[in-house]
Amino acid sequence: MTNQSSQSNQVLCAQQEATFAGPLKRCRHPSLQMWIVLLCCGLLLCMMGRVQATESKAMLQSLHQPVPGGVAVISLGSHRTPPKVTYAGKPVMVVQDAAPNQWIALVGIPLSNTQPSQSIQVQTAAGSREITFEVKPKRYREQRITLKNARQVNPLPDDLERIKRELEIQNEAYRSFRAESPSNLILDRPVQGKLSSPFGLKRYFNGEARNPHSGLDFAAPTGTPVHAPAAGTITLVGDYFFNGKTVFIDHGQGMVSMLCHLSAIDVKQGDRVARGQLVGKVGATGRATGAHLHWNVSLNDARVDPAIFIGAFVP
Ligand SMILES: [Zn+2]
Repeated sequence: MTNQSSQSNQVLCAQQEATFAGPLKRCRHPSLQMWIVLLCCGLLLCMMGRVQATESKAMLQSLHQPVPGGVAVISLGSHRTPPKVTYAGKPVMVVQDAAPNQWIALVGIPLSNTQPSQSIQVQTAAGSREITFEVKPKRYREQRITLKNARQVNPLPDDLERIKRELEIQNEAYRSFRAESPSNLILDRPVQGKLSSPFGLKRYFNGEARNPHSGLDFAAPTGTPVHAPAAGTITLVGDYFFNGKTVFIDHGQGMVSMLCHLSAIDVKQGDRVARGQLVGKVGATGRATGAHLHWNVSLNDARVDPAIFIGAFVP
């Protein structure tokens, strides 16, 4: 919530700066009083700039959680144009830091990562270089789930075909990378409801080990509206064996939200959605023991903990 309010402060600051810029430019022959006013305005703008920069830096720094399933925020230094960054051969998000011409990379670290020493490749006008970063260990808890439908634990051969096909379609949606930057990096909660299952849980279905929990669950009754955590393009909608009714939102620069187990979908593939726009309703479709929203956040095709982006990360 704190992060959300700091974001709205930033918007307010930008609007105020725009309002100041008009009269200052029009004033061609200022008197002494005018100069004093201009000086005061200048000082005020400088102070505002500093406040904004500090907030922005703190905001970006809060995203730096370099653990498996986390995010590394890496400074790229000063460049006139944004450097191109890759990690494990995949394009990485690069955004402007608070200071002009300063760039940072936001790297999604796969949950499966076991190597503490990692590196990104940075391409600039001056050439290419490698920046190394450290991944700290994190212990994730276990979760044991009992499913009445045994087919959801050990799918039939026909189901396996379907699952494979659906996995390929969804993996392609995660690999999407558009140059457009996300509307907001501190994301809005997509639904009103308590956090239930955290990201990264080692899961056992009816006693059998399965993939770890790749997203964050919110407890909410069927029909609760689900909103876009940031603006984006709907790159995929479907009704899948495990995920049920599902919506993919491409927020730009490799940041992708996947919202699933929905009871209804209110968007279609190719739609542009605004931040906060209704995309569907909570349900229990697919492999779900009850109504809830499951939300994945992906960066450079790595599923990362959505809690990091809503100020709810537990180290
Ligand atoms: Zn879930």
